[in-house]
Amino acid sequence: MEILIDLHNHTVASGHAYSSMEELISRAVKKNVRVLGISDHAPALPGGPNIFHFGNLFVVPREIDGLILLKGVETNIMDFEGNIDVPARILKRLDYAIASLHPPCIEPGTKEENTNAIIGAMKNPFVKIIGHPDDSRYPMDYEAIVQASKLYNVALEINNTSLRPDSYRVGVHENAATILSLCKKYKVKVIFGSDSHVSYDIGNFSNCIWITEEANFPDELVINYSKDAINELLDEEIF
Ligand SMILES: [Zn+2]
Ligand SMILES: [Zn+2]
Repeated sequence: MEILIDLHNHTVASGHAYSSMEELISRAVKKNVRVLGISDHAPALPGGPNIFHFGNLFVVPREIDGLILLKGVETNIMDFEGNIDVPARILKRLDYAIASLHPPCIEPGTKEENTNAIIGAMKNPFVKIIGHPDDSRYPMDYEAIVQASKLYNVALEINNTSLRPDSYRVGVHENAATILSLCKKYKVKVIFGSDSHVSYDIGNFSNCIWITEEANFPDELVINYSKDAINELLDEEIF
């Protein structure tokens, strides 16, 4: 299957990533990615840019060398109600937001608290993806989260970087397998994210592919493979 889209990518603006936007774009063009989303870390993560960085993204062209460029942000979930660190006045100028739990921004809570945090973030109309919901440091009720994913049209991410054997996230293989089996059971779509922090990882979904194969996960439930699914998730005719 052709992978059309990669929406989880970081530039040097994130503080702990190593490529410029131009390097990301040229790599994406070379790898035939059709739609590239730039989703730098939001201000609450140490090293993240000022909020002005996101407000000014309108200066970046929408299409470059045939590549469609989407402007996004990986926001930080800040509390167990699911509040995030980027306000609506900025989010409405962007194409999408990812919402993620990051240890420097929120201490792990109980299973119930972490689940509430994720579902609360899903209720934010600008949030389209939950980033790496695969980390046992934040135990969560996957049954409830998969149901909420369908209800709010917010995709759960299968994160390629989390699945690296040297990842610092915990229990990822088991958690991602649980998410895939519940999504298959309830016919809920997932999205692959490379979570690239260097240009060479753009469109690298090797780990996502083996885990979906292992789970016998149907291709039609992978958003990255389908133009219609991408447009439906983003609620916009992207391409
Ligand atoms: Zn990062
Ligand atoms: Zn993240």
